Amino acid sequence: MIPQLIQSIKNFRKRNLQLIAEVLVAFDMVRILGTMVSGGAVRMKHTDGIGVLEYVELSLPEIEALEREKTVFLMSVSPIEAHGPHLPVGTDVFIASELLNRYVSELKKNHPELTLVKLPSLYVGSDAVPAPGSLSVPATHLEGILTAYGEGLAKQGFRYLFIADNHGGPRHQMAIEAAARKLWKKRRFYLIDPFGLVFRYMVQHDPNFMRRTGLGPGECGDSPDSHAGTNETSLMLACCPEKVRRNYKEVEPSLPPPLRGGAAFVAFLGRLIYSLGGRKLGRDLQDPLAYTLAWVSDPDMKPYMGGPAKASKEAGEAMLVARVEVAMELFEKALQSGGKEPVHIEPMLWGIRLLRKFP
Ligand SMILES: [Zn+2]
Repeated sequence: MIPQLIQSIKNFRKRNLQLIAEVLVAFDMVRILGTMVSGGAVRMKHTDGIGVLEYVELSLPEIEALEREKTVFLMSVSPIEAHGPHLPVGTDVFIASELLNRYVSELKKNHPELTLVKLPSLYVGSDAVPAPGSLSVPATHLEGILTAYGEGLAKQGFRYLFIADNHGGPRHQMAIEAAARKLWKKRRFYLIDPFGLVFRYMVQHDPNFMRRTGLGPGECGDSPDSHAGTNETSLMLACCPEKVRRNYKEVEPSLPPPLRGGAAFVAFLGRLIYSLGGRKLGRDLQDPLAYTLAWVSDPDMKPYMGGPAKASKEAGEAMLVARVEVAMELFEKALQSGGKEPVHIEPMLWGIRLLRKFP
């Protein structure tokens, strides 16, 4: 009797253990399947609490489980560049990263069906100010990296890479748009950098944009305020005030030098082309190119342009809000079109984009 009892207890335990194991396996399968397919996307612990996945944290099965049409990649792209005595050399990427987080919040709000995936920030950019501290990269290299990243995503069946950027270097912007157009032509892939458009609005005082920001000439990132001046210091006060050096209010303004030599010639050429009907290029040559050349060829050049002391967090915040609005309009066009229509931007000096090929 007793051995029989022991045997039946053993059998009972074995069956139950088996049952428990089966339940656990089934439960795990459900969990894995749930993870892989819930809403067509991987649901993972979000790293920053605003609902975005980090690409480099994903495993291959997790990447494979992402729903192709509903996944949007985002990446900050800007150079390491000297930004006066009061801002760090990573300023452009820090501002871009804040923009990217705001893009994520807006996209999540307007498109809860999307899965958003962040790529690591790319500290790469062209035409950084020629000053110690800057680590500028040839435009062809930047173009190559972005085209390759876009290709890599497109080959996996993805469709969208939205860029956050804060650098107005002319060949930087040409290279990004050239990569975007290649990717569209070859793959119907959307690489969109709204700064190519925003920068034009800032420099040439687009009335709609100026109204949105509530800012005036000389404080909106135009030529007399083009680098680490009022606008960019304001942006940093809004994005990461702890990174703004406390001396920013004592930094004396840097004023645009008069147009001489090559800069004066470029301005003349711009006026000529403008009068002959090349309105866009003619205008871009006069402002910003002639002003930029005058500044960077000035023997007393300061590694900033504008008045940092006038910066305020409020002005930076207004600029961020307006920039996110412009970006969302562009992203929305791409999301609505879904591969049917291109979303092209014409950055400054696009008419002479061949310049990006020269060192
Ligand atoms: Zn900058």
